Amino acid sequence: MGYRLKPKYFDDVLSALSKHYDIMAPALMPFETRHSAQEVVGYRKIESLKEIVVDKKTFFSPKEILFPPRETMFYFTDSKIRESEYEEKNKIILLRTCDLNGIERLKNMFLNNGDVKDNYFKRRFESTKFWLIECDDGFDSCFCASMNSNKADSYSTAIKFTEEDILVDSNDNMFSELFKSYGVEEDYKVSFIEKNKLEVKVPLSENINPAVFEHDIWQEYIKRCIACGRCNTSCISCSCFTTHDIIYDDNKRRGERRRVWAGCHLDNFSIMAGGHDYRTKNGERMRFKTMHKIYDYHKRFGKHMCVGCGRCDDVCPEYISFSKCINKLYDIIEKENDK
Ligand code: SF4
Ligand code: SF4
Repeated sequence: MGYRLKPKYFDDVLSALSKHYDIMAPALMPFETRHSAQEVVGYRKIESLKEIVVDKKTFFSPKEILFPPRETMFYFTDSKIRESEYEEKNKIILLRTCDLNGIERLKNMFLNNGDVKDNYFKRRFESTKFWLIECDDGFDSCFCASMNSNKADSYSTAIKFTEEDILVDSNDNMFSELFKSYGVEEDYKVSFIEKNKLEVKVPLSENINPAVFEHDIWQEYIKRCIACGRCNTSCISCSCFTTHDIIYDDNKRRGERRRVWAGCHLDNFSIMAGGHDYRTKNGERMRFKTMHKIYDYHKRFGKHMCVGCGRCDDVCPEYISFSKCINKLYDIIEKENDK
């Protein structure tokens, strides 16, 4: 059973939950753009309905809440190591279907990719509840349906913002009780987008052959891509990081190890021990990212890594379109298959 809440009662729910949770939602972030006096929509803690932005896509994804851009992993002295403690409040994240699927992709990378689980991701993930925001039409650059990421079921609460009220449906008893006491019963079930304005055709894995890796399609990106890494940092499913050791000034025998986001488009990302860099050209990096998003990950986990959020298309300063790149690849591969 779902519920309908008036805005002021939804605020009461947020206020009651704020005692136990930090509520993270799409909201305006003043002074966080490259230009002065402009605001960007991103993820931050909110306290009331009026702060939540639902008519714009966030520039960055909610992955930064579960996998922060920089994070201390452990502290060390010359004889001891102590893992960083996690003292943050539990969280509720309001997010869209593509991003919830993107977090599932991150979960595979951090928790299901071999025998060792990433404790830093695990402790954040396990103390987070996900509230799914129902999409109306999606945004122009979305292609979640093409990536089979337009539906999800791993949410605790689904939520629809209408002009007047808020509709909710929760499978979590604590949230349900709260909605019941502040709202009226309504037969609400979340609806999913079936088709986006943008359609992307993804080549079948079995049709991708080694010749594709050497194809001229990648040449275009050698000059166009400037290796800024924005497509990596804005991507919900990019999980790469590097580590830095910080030695404290006051005592050179103490310090901490931090992990910091990294990305396959950035210089130095593919340098190995001994100094050899095996992807120096930006076109090679575009090829690596594309194949990881629509081929390698799928082979390992049975789903595409890319969830079609379209942020990489939105943020690229060189107007490089990842969705167009996949479509071009599809045409090349299909043409080869027709021969
Ligand atoms: S590759 Fe682009 S469209 Fe796909 S999940 Fe990442 S940012 Fe979104
Ligand atoms: S955002 Fe565009 S220019 Fe920057 S690294 Fe990605 S593809 Fe290259």
